[in-house]
Amino acid sequence: MNKSAFYKLSYGLYVITSGKEGRFNGQIANTVFQVTSEPPTIAVSINKQNFTHEQIVASRLFAVSILEEATPMTLIGRFGFKCGRDIDKFDGVRTRTGKTGVPIVIDHAVAFIEAEVVGEMDCGTHTIFLGQIVECDILDAAAEPMTYAYYHKVKGGKAPKNAPTYQKEEAPEPAAPAAKTARFVCTVCGYVYDPEKGDPEGNVKPGTRFEELPADWVCPVCGAEKDKFEEQF
Ligand code: FE
Repeated sequence: MNKSAFYKLSYGLYVITSGKEGRFNGQIANTVFQVTSEPPTIAVSINKQNFTHEQIVASRLFAVSILEEATPMTLIGRFGFKCGRDIDKFDGVRTRTGKTGVPIVIDHAVAFIEAEVVGEMDCGTHTIFLGQIVECDILDAAAEPMTYAYYHKVKGGKAPKNAPTYQKEEAPEPAAPAAKTARFVCTVCGYVYDPEKGDPEGNVKPGTRFEELPADWVCPVCGAEKDKFEEQF
């Protein structure tokens, strides 16, 4: 079995929000798809350990924000690699309250869909929730939605260990041309600091070696400190 075949599947990148009575959370997911058009129904696969899973089970509601290509890694990291039990993920993020009462992330979203859970399937580590659409709209008609392939190739993104598509043994990536300076990988989230690219979102210029980064520099995705990075060989 060659599991790298899974990498040929196409996905997007979404923020899934849920909750009720003033207690809300959101997370990143790449597995959202339309199931039927009449009635309009979508499905999403969520890890049972995630706080958002707990909230979907309790509220029977969820909203999907479809992220644009230009979404900064900081937003993806906030919703994808941090836990809503520890921080308020909505802090500093623009949202609006949907028809269902669930906050919809509108920062860097090209469109949103609100749904009410009408069915679910236990899939071991994950639950697939079926949601009937309550409301949906375009937020930015000009922006391109981000595909999961774009996230991996252009943004250098990785799947957290509780994502449905995470694989313990990642398929080998095509050999990159030897870099003049070492790349460092975040041991928490898998983000790779590439000195040739720098960290534009953290105002680090291309050509800055990892060793030259300021001591208070943190992983742009998950917020881990410099000592959580290891040289990539
Ligand atoms: Fe990280």
